[in-house]
Amino acid sequence: MQIKTIKTFFGLVIIPFSVCIATFTVSASEKKEPWQLAQETEVWEPVPPVVNTSEKNPPSDAVILLDGKNLNQWEGVDGGVARWYLDKGVMTVAPKTGDIKTKEVFCDIQLHLEWRAPEEVDGFDGQGRGNSGVFLQERYEVQILDSYKNETYPNGQAASVYKQSIPLVNASRGPDVWQSYDIIFRSPKFDDEGALISPAYVTVLHNGVLVQNHVEIQGPTSWIGHPPYEAHGCAPLRLQDHGNPVSFKNIWVRKL
Ligand code: MG
Repeated sequence: MQIKTIKTFFGLVIIPFSVCIATFTVSASEKKEPWQLAQETEVWEPVPPVVNTSEKNPPSDAVILLDGKNLNQWEGVDGGVARWYLDKGVMTVAPKTGDIKTKEVFCDIQLHLEWRAPEEVDGFDGQGRGNSGVFLQERYEVQILDSYKNETYPNGQAASVYKQSIPLVNASRGPDVWQSYDIIFRSPKFDDEGALISPAYVTVLHNGVLVQNHVEIQGPTSWIGHPPYEAHGCAPLRLQDHGNPVSFKNIWVRKL
């Protein structure tokens, strides 16, 4: 009887004591200063690498594809030299010499390019006016076209993903005026058997205006039909010779 009383006695003491420790621990954490709580959500790694920028120059980590000095980064689509014109820092399609492509291959990228449709528009309309194009990984075309007061099917106008996605707005400037594309492209992913795991996605700003917002690309560009994806790796950028003397300058790419 006495022992039981002692046990009860210790029980009464120990239990409240352990509760006191727990209570003390909780109240101590609740008493953190605001700056201590703020620190808990700070992430210090990884530290982003420094990229130098200026209004006149491409970002310091960009691959320069056209700076107006030469066409060294380009070749004919079937090999050999790129036979487009280069004059006063501007590259222009030499009609019927064929498409050109980069010697280097690219996967996920941010691409900047500036282009200008020909001044001469008389006798040209629709798809025949200032037509060129930038083919991402040689397959997926963002259309280049003089779409200033020039009617055509909207999924084939400037800044369309050709025959796949109509641009959100028409941000076109007139012929003989420089325009820009800023393109963010995520390449399609394939498994070892060549099956598609993830389609390509593209975001396009035309003259600084968002016109394609993370659009899913359905497959390779085609004038006729909708061919399915075929497995491929990183690939060149290709510029289209559609028979119109479209001009280019300031082309650079950042690998993502
Ligand atoms: Mg085209």
